[in-house]
Amino acid sequence: MDYYHTANRFLWLYSLSVSFSILIMAINFPYQHKRERLLGAIFAIPFSGYLLSGLLLTPGLQIDQIYWLAEFLMLIGVMMVYLDLLSEKTNPIALMVTAAVMTGILFLSINKFATEFLRWINYRTALWFFWIPGFVIFAKIRQSKDAFYQFHYGLLMIVLAYTVQFFRGSLYVPEVSMILKIVGYSLLLIHFSGTMEKEIKMLQRSADNYQRRLQKTADNAAKRKENELIRSHQAVLENAKKDGLTGAFNRISIMDFIDEQIKQNDGTSFSVLMFDIDKFKRINDNLGHVKGDIALKTLASITQGVIREYDYLGRYGGDEFIVLLPKLNLAESRLVAERLLEKIRKTKEPHFTISIGIAVFPEDGETVLELIQIADKGLYKSKEKGGNDVSHHEVF
Ligand code: GH3
Ligand code: MG
Repeated sequence: MDYYHTANRFLWLYSLSVSFSILIMAINFPYQHKRERLLGAIFAIPFSGYLLSGLLLTPGLQIDQIYWLAEFLMLIGVMMVYLDLLSEKTNPIALMVTAAVMTGILFLSINKFATEFLRWINYRTALWFFWIPGFVIFAKIRQSKDAFYQFHYGLLMIVLAYTVQFFRGSLYVPEVSMILKIVGYSLLLIHFSGTMEKEIKMLQRSADNYQRRLQKTADNAAKRKENELIRSHQAVLENAKKDGLTGAFNRISIMDFIDEQIKQNDGTSFSVLMFDIDKFKRINDNLGHVKGDIALKTLASITQGVIREYDYLGRYGGDEFIVLLPKLNLAESRLVAERLLEKIRKTKEPHFTISIGIAVFPEDGETVLELIQIADKGLYKSKEKGGNDVSHHEVF
């Protein structure tokens, strides 16, 4: 029948292109879909079978016989994957090549020697062979409700396409068989392209994630850099407030701190000490400026050791220093001053002493300048007493 001949050609072309598409997709599945790749690789059998049958069809060999042989081998391959005869360790590409080569050899030998053999196994005999994998597939359908159902129904349709041929000679059997096969191959194609689509989406997601991670890392790096800058900026500011030689706050800063203390004051007293090295010029002149500098540094570091963590030491200028003692009244700050005097008295190389003046807020003054003036008066009083002493301009 001419119509049947044309339909058969269409079926040949359709099965060939579907097998080819599945092969191409299987090659491109990444490794997390090892089983899918193996199943895809099996389609090297029908592909090679249809291709060779199209190229080398011997007169006398019916195309239907090529079909059943190719599809039977394909079902056996699928069963082998299910039975773990082709394990996850099998390389899908190697399997693909092996299947194609073996199918090729089989078909070539059939063309040469076994046409008679194929003719001898008639359809009815062949059908029983199809129901062996048919049962396995049936079992798989019952077992798995997963994404593989299209694949299984596709295979089942192909088995059914052969089963209906059991009723050869009845009306529309070739047509029904052909439709079942087309539906079967379409389902197989849908299954594999679904996997491919999922795969592409997953790759897209992981690429997105990667990009997000990269962005986050970049953000973190930028933030770290920014924090570093802020820290170094703060360090620069901090250093700028300090005197380079002694590490004490500079004149402007210590005056600011006193001013802040006045503004924030909650009614409690605080004290300001002003002190100066006795006869410092003599140290410079006799021992040199290097020793003079050492004396200044020693004075600053001894003072830092005597005062509390939240007291402030500032270099007012030359050999004059100021200490701000929050919350301390006159008696208390006098004790601090005496402790300082005692420590300084013990200095060696160079040995030196200091004179100290005290001013107390708010009794002695309510502005920075007033307080400094009164402390300076006390200092002058100590100098008049011969140095190495602490004074308040009125009280002692
Ligand atoms: P008095 O007991 O009256 O304080 O006498 P004095 O010699 O200490 O006199 P004065 O306080 O006026 O002297 C300050 C000297 O400090 C003058 C200056 O040469 C010296 N000086 C100022 N800054 C520095 C410094 O950074 N290093 C050194 N080595 N000397 C300095
Ligand atoms: Mg001095």
